[in-house]
Amino acid sequence: MKITENEINQLYRDRDLPDEQLAALLETDEHDALLYRLADKVRREHYGDKVYVRGLIEFTNYCKNNCYYCGIRCGNHAVERYRLTKEDILSCCEEGYGLGFRTFVLQGGEDPYYTDDVICEIVSEIRQKYPDCAITLSIGEKPRESYQAYFDAGANRYLLRHETADPQHYAMLHPESMSLENRKRCLFDLKEIGYQVGSGFMVGSPYQTTENLIADLRFLQQLSPDMIGIGPYLTHADTPFADKENGSFTLTLRLISVLRLMFPYALIPATTALGTIHPLGREKGLQAGANVVMPNLSPVSVRKKYELYENKICTGEEAAQCRGCLERRVESVGYRIVTDIGNVNR
Ligand code: SAH
Repeated sequence: MKITENEINQLYRDRDLPDEQLAALLETDEHDALLYRLADKVRREHYGDKVYVRGLIEFTNYCKNNCYYCGIRCGNHAVERYRLTKEDILSCCEEGYGLGFRTFVLQGGEDPYYTDDVICEIVSEIRQKYPDCAITLSIGEKPRESYQAYFDAGANRYLLRHETADPQHYAMLHPESMSLENRKRCLFDLKEIGYQVGSGFMVGSPYQTTENLIADLRFLQQLSPDMIGIGPYLTHADTPFADKENGSFTLTLRLISVLRLMFPYALIPATTALGTIHPLGREKGLQAGANVVMPNLSPVSVRKKYELYENKICTGEEAAQCRGCLERRVESVGYRIVTDIGNVNR
C-alpha cells in the first residue's frame, strides 16, 4: 500500500489516520520533507520557536532490573557503579538554577538504596530551595503509594517510557520479572495522582515491527501523556543485544513528526540518543517537530558511567559548556531556548 500527500494532510487535519495508512507512512521516506514541514508548522502554532530545557541529573547507575537493551542492567558486571548523595544532587541543582534551568530531572536505575524516605527527603529539599522549579523523577516502576509519597514531597513530573506497547515484544526486551501490564499500571497511577507524565519508546529496538510502532502510537493516544520521548535504540556491547543493530535515524525523525501531528500539544525532546546516532541529530529532531532538550547536569566525574548505550555524547563537558553548546545548536536551526518552566499547552 502507498500513502498519498492527501492522506498526510488528513493526518495534519484530523491528528489521526487509520492503522494501514500510518503503517505505510512509517515505511516510506518519500514524504519526509512534507512531514517535517507540517510538523514544524504545528509546533510553531502551539509553541512558537520556544525550546524548553530540562536539566538531567543521572544520580545512580545501580539497577535491580536486567533489561536486555540497557547498559546499566544488573547483569553487566563491567560497569563501575556510582551513587550521588543528596548534597551532590543539590549542588547539581544549584549550578543548574544559575544556568537558567527551571526543571530538574532526577533519573536513575531502579536502585533500592534510595528508599522512598530517601527520595522524599531529596525531593522535599529541592522543593523547599526551588519553589519555582518543576521536579521530575525518572526512577522506574514503583508501587502507587511510593509515587504518591514522592508527589506529596513535591515532585510534579514523572518520566517512564512504556518501551513497547505490545506484550509479546515487551517480553523479548525484558526478563520475565517485568511486564507491560505493570508498566502501564504505573503510568496510569502516575496520571491519576496528578503528575505530568512522560512516556515513549525506543525506535528500532530489537524485533520491533511496524505493527509494534502503531501499537505504541495507539497506546499513547490512550494515555495522552504530557511528554513523549523517543530515541533510536543504540547497542551496548555488554548486553545480550550486543550483536543487534542500532535503530534508524530517519525513522526516528519521521516518528517525531508523526508524534507532533498526532499530539500537537506534546512536549517532545530531541534526545541524547538522537544526538548520539548523528552529529546533528538533535538539531534535525527540532526541525522535525521536537521542542525540548535535556542537557546533562550530572557531575562530569560520573557521566561516562551512566552508559545506557555506547558512545553517548556530552560526557566530557561541564554543565555550563553543555548549556552554551546547546544554545548555539538550537539557534543554528532557528529556535530559541527559554528559561520558563515549560508546562504543556493542552
Ligand atoms: N530506570 C528508569 C530510567 C531508564 S533510562 C526507567 O526505567 O524508566 C531511560 C530510557 O533510556 C529508557 O526508558 C530507555 O527507553 C532508554 N534506553 C535504555 N537503553 C537504551 C539503549 N540501549 N538505546 C537507546 N535507549 C535506551
